[in-house]
Amino acid sequence: MVVTFPSSGQWIPGSGAPLQTTNPANGEVHAEIGTPSNEEVASACAFAAMSAASIAWRDMKPHKRADILYRIADGVGKSADNLARAQMIENGKTFKECRLQAASAAATFRYFAAACETMEAAVPPSRGDYVTVTTFEPYGVVAAITPWNSPLTMEAQKLAPALAAGNAVVLKPSEITTLPALTLARICEEAGLPSGILSVLPGFGHDVGPALLEQPQVRMVTFTGGTETGRTIAQTAARRLIPAALELGGKSPHIILEDADIAAACDGVVDGIFEGMGQSCVAGSRLFVPRARHDEIVDLLVTKAEAIRLGQPTEPTTDLGPLSSHLHRDKVSQYVDQARKEGANIATGGSRPSGSEFDRGAFYRPTIITGLTNKARVCQEEIFGPVLCVLPFDDEQDLVEQANDTAFGLACGIWTADYRRAWRLARAIDAGTVWINTYKQLSIAVPFGGFKDSGIGREKGLSGMRLYQQAKSIYLSMD
Ligand code: NAD
Repeated sequence: MVVTFPSSGQWIPGSGAPLQTTNPANGEVHAEIGTPSNEEVASACAFAAMSAASIAWRDMKPHKRADILYRIADGVGKSADNLARAQMIENGKTFKECRLQAASAAATFRYFAAACETMEAAVPPSRGDYVTVTTFEPYGVVAAITPWNSPLTMEAQKLAPALAAGNAVVLKPSEITTLPALTLARICEEAGLPSGILSVLPGFGHDVGPALLEQPQVRMVTFTGGTETGRTIAQTAARRLIPAALELGGKSPHIILEDADIAAACDGVVDGIFEGMGQSCVAGSRLFVPRARHDEIVDLLVTKAEAIRLGQPTEPTTDLGPLSSHLHRDKVSQYVDQARKEGANIATGGSRPSGSEFDRGAFYRPTIITGLTNKARVCQEEIFGPVLCVLPFDDEQDLVEQANDTAFGLACGIWTADYRRAWRLARAIDAGTVWINTYKQLSIAVPFGGFKDSGIGREKGLSGMRLYQQAKSIYLSMD
């Protein structure tokens, strides 16, 4: 049976070729999902534009729009198990992690519901016989394109502020993880979101993605995914003169200084890279350690990495499930082979786990690489898997130079007892987020995004709602 999707106000099977989603824990096809033809992409966007412009949505009072978002938050909370299962079965993350992400998605809708009914227009100081009111208006139709690693949080992070801002959204989820978006769309419908305000168009990136972005009704695009895809989307957005918010890849430096609590730091480093099998944009994939402490720290990390329990994502005792697909597992494995060719020492991991329970799934052992310099390919390119490269540094200048010697600038972690030094380093490193004596702490109230090739724009926080609005200044003469 082909799974339907919401387009132009109806759930349709689509006239495009159906796509199959596979459970990476056992290699079995899980669902066959309909996709739209180019004509159906066009009509979804036309219907979205009409729905966005309708009085029922455009003139809806902010507290009424907030009511809908609160109901969506409640629905996400009530369906958290379903949403978590939909994500787990497609990307292999453990049920525990998916459940936490579903709770985070509910909190995101709640946050932007509150923002929607409380954010104000501006009255800038007058410089003459007039009063100016700056209002913030929706773009109309926003195209949202999301990745497979954390669709539950990523999709909430785009939908909640874009809807709060008064737009209609046409969402294209990753071809690997479509079910969370479809489950969320049902919840939105049940919460009373007017017809056509959310469409979900499943399909491959190279196919449905460009078709969506070419639609004249799409006036803004919000994208999370790889840097090269982001570049392609930015080119289309530049040609069409529409704004693009881009949350892209990373190769984040994680730093342990001499005076850090080494045990706590190593816990942070292990979680920072291996949580979610390293399939996190903010994964701390390059670890910088004082040269004199290198071997001691590597030994401790190896012990901790080897204690991680791989297994079926459904099991409560499992720490890490498989990678999101067999194809991606092969890509990760090729990176480790490349490191070997460049002379790396594989301190632990570097292979698939043995045992019949792992035979059919896309499993890979948490891997720690030493003996390379920051110039090595595995230290420069985003692997997006459970692979940590440990790199020694000599002094603070050497540390900053190495940490910043990357195309990316998404996140950074620093472990130290010296807050002055932490502050100095935090200011010197190119990153949109810096964690001191913690890692991967995230809050919907705090702006998030990347420097350099890690992106353009900031999601989350109150400015995360303004991302989906354009300012209009109205002058009233008092003369
Ligand atoms: P991807 O770039 O391959 O795909 C992301 C989305 O873009 C998918 O929906 C895909 O179908 C679509 N797409 C692909 N080609 C397209 C095109 N030409 N036009 C329009 N859409 C297209 O990324 P992925 O493999 O799904 O996700 C992993 C990447 O996402 C990593 O690089 C990771 O760092 C990044 N990511 C970034 C953040 C962040 O907040 N900065 C968060 C999560 C993931």
